[in-house]
Amino acid sequence: MINHSLFENTDTAFTLKSDSELERAYFLFKMISSEPLVRIGTAATNFALKAHLPVEKLIRATVFDHFCGGVNEDDCLSVIDKLYTERVCSVLDYSVEGKSVENQFDNALEKILKIINFCDEREAMPIVVFKPTGFGRFLLYQKKTEGVELTEEEEAEWNRIVVRFDTVCKLAKEKDVEVLIDAEESWMQTAADDLVEEMMQRYNKDVTVVYNTLQLYRWDRLDYLKQLHQRAKANGFKIGMKIVRGAYMEKERERALDKGYDSPICENKKATDDNFNETLSYILNNLKEISVFIGTHNEASCYLALELMETLNISKQDNNVWFGQLYGMSDHISFNLAAEGYNVAKYIPFGPVKDVMPYLIRRAEENTSVAGQTSRELSLLKAERKRRKL
Ligand SMILES: Cc1cc2nc3c(=O)[nH]c(=O)nc-3n(C[C@H](O)[C@H](O)[C@H](O)COP(=O)(O)OP(=O)(O)OC[C@H]3O[C@@H](n4cnc5c(N)ncnc54)[C@H](O)[C@@H]3O)c2cc1C
Repeated sequence: MINHSLFENTDTAFTLKSDSELERAYFLFKMISSEPLVRIGTAATNFALKAHLPVEKLIRATVFDHFCGGVNEDDCLSVIDKLYTERVCSVLDYSVEGKSVENQFDNALEKILKIINFCDEREAMPIVVFKPTGFGRFLLYQKKTEGVELTEEEEAEWNRIVVRFDTVCKLAKEKDVEVLIDAEESWMQTAADDLVEEMMQRYNKDVTVVYNTLQLYRWDRLDYLKQLHQRAKANGFKIGMKIVRGAYMEKERERALDKGYDSPICENKKATDDNFNETLSYILNNLKEISVFIGTHNEASCYLALELMETLNISKQDNNVWFGQLYGMSDHISFNLAAEGYNVAKYIPFGPVKDVMPYLIRRAEENTSVAGQTSRELSLLKAERKRRKL
């Protein structure tokens, strides 16, 4: 029987937080629960960074240290070790976004290769992650997705992306590390999906090394998975899938409206939740062929996963099922699942302060606009403060 109050245990959830860290987290979530404050704070921070005002220290002491592991991978080591004392693994996420120049893509590649080598022999780091647009221009993915013919130069540029993907997956296989590949906007995603499938064909023959991502706010994704499943069976490779709800909803809807095509997004939150849960169930029922990384802060979906695992006799430690949350969020899910013996990993973003700002702003905005998420964090932090006082 599944304990449906597992995530209420704030003692386990915040076991690694000192009293002062608990206070800082409470203060931070209180601040970002206010939409006007986030809007003003974002504008002021962007201005201050551009004007080279000395605000980095302030950012580090507040949002950065709460949501990020550090400015480079060595910086993250103490966080990684600390999390692993509670059986929570780490996925280092080099969160420098929006780059568009070749040498920056090569730098990102070097970074990921370094992280894979860093993972070697470190039990606390069995998984790495990268974003398709970390390795190539968004517009090139978009052109491929739209079926636009590439120029000779663009073909060469695309081939360099393919080589970057291949280099990462090859080293990951050698080092016994799993690779998660994030999903982004729908109008560039088909090109990424096709490329990741190629990598699965090459590297997922006997074990699952390569994982793509399904964004289940998209109503077409379960069908896509079922078709991929048929191709995987026919061609003898395994599927790895991270499942998430999706982070670009407003952008997706706006573009569809603007360009006059049907929105790829489910019509409401319940439809997204149903789609997520149905896909989760499909995968767990086909675990021999599909491994899953469940990336969510949604308690109901996590409980459903636990129930299905029990019904289907899937061991808590089965390496084909992982739960993942972002560092600085939903510790009540991560730490309680890990304490029960499930496989859990936190995404730990890192990078220079000004480069991870887009990531931090997304987190602040998400916590403001996603109804319930901040109030849930706040009520848990409040409960823990009260418990400690008693
Ligand atoms: C480990 C991890 C990895 C991630 N990787 C990616 C990634 O590669 N790509 C990516 O895009 N995102 C990624 N995300 C972010 C993720 O997609 C969600 O934005 C975030 O996790 C919130 O969804 P939830 O399942 O946690 O919880 P919930 O709070 O239950 O769901 C919120 C989500 O529901 C959907 N939603 C909300 N309102 C509506 C509505 N009216 N109609 C339809 N749908 C709605 C949106 O997707 C929204 O983000 C990742 C998250 C985690 C934890």
